[in-house]
Amino acid sequence: MNLKIEANNYLRRFDHTGKLKFRMQEVNNAWVGSDGYVTLCPKYAKKFMDSKEVLRFEDGSTFVPNGHERIAATIAHEAAHWAKDHVNQGNVLFLYQPIMLGCLSILSLSATYITCSIAILFKIIHHFQFYKVRNLALISTALFVASVAGFALNNWAEMRRSRKNEYEADTYGMELLQKAGMRPEIMLWSRKALYAPRKKFHDDRDPDTSWYNRIMYELSSTHPIPHLRYERCLAHLKKIQ
Ligand SMILES: [Zn+2]
Repeated sequence: MNLKIEANNYLRRFDHTGKLKFRMQEVNNAWVGSDGYVTLCPKYAKKFMDSKEVLRFEDGSTFVPNGHERIAATIAHEAAHWAKDHVNQGNVLFLYQPIMLGCLSILSLSATYITCSIAILFKIIHHFQFYKVRNLALISTALFVASVAGFALNNWAEMRRSRKNEYEADTYGMELLQKAGMRPEIMLWSRKALYAPRKKFHDDRDPDTSWYNRIMYELSSTHPIPHLRYERCLAHLKKIQ
């Protein structure tokens, strides 16, 4: 089986805009960019190809996708990101706002440090205009606190949006599979295949197990943990069947 040809064929089936192109690169799992390229890392594809996972349903039935279908799940997910225009959402904010806020916090922290030092120095030498320097120190400290809070808030909003898009790419990807005459369960299986081999890694970061995990998850996770994605896919399967 030629991975490149296979993935390209699926892209033609799932991409209803006719604009997506495909390439393989030895980096970063799989993604779709605003340039219209779906990029797949061969190592990431291999993870699915080698997986021994078996999908078990409540009624006792099982499902194991064949090699072709395993590639289809990844391509459908990326085509869904494209179809839902996720690639063009919030890129500017996502990149620049944290940088701006980061610079602002460094500047205001430096200003706090300098003005505090001057204030202390003035107090030591003589009491000359101490209140003015103190006010400056207060203002720059407030600026620092505000920029850190802004940074956290921006990250929280961006990560939340990103995770929402991942859920949507999974569920809409299932619909793309279905429209192409394939089983939407393939997406469910692929989420399980991502989760199972690194169960401990993912469980240690489960946002529902501690307040620390919740904060880290809210502020830094672009992707929901696989078992949450699996549950979302399972709920969606019941809806579209
Ligand atoms: Zn995605």
